[in-house]
Amino acid sequence: MAKKKYPNIAARFGPRYGATLRKRWNLVMIKRVKKYECPRCMHKKVVRVSVGVWRCKKCGYTFAGGAYEPVIIRRGVK
Ligand SMILES: [Zn+2]
Repeated sequence: MAKKKYPNIAARFGPRYGATLRKRWNLVMIKRVKKYECPRCMHKKVVRVSVGVWRCKKCGYTFAGGAYEPVIIRRGVK
């Protein structure tokens, strides 16, 4: 099976900061920029507004999630 390829947006750093650090930074940044599925209208239009704030560009639904990916937090549910 072929290894999954990610776009290397850490290439801008050149040889600096170490390969491991660049790889980890790359994975986080990909999650941040990626569009996610809206929990209300199910369209893949959710983008990050700021840290922990996510908004659907289709229906305008704004919700809190994780800092780098929109994790749906269910409060009071174990
Ligand atoms: Zn939506």
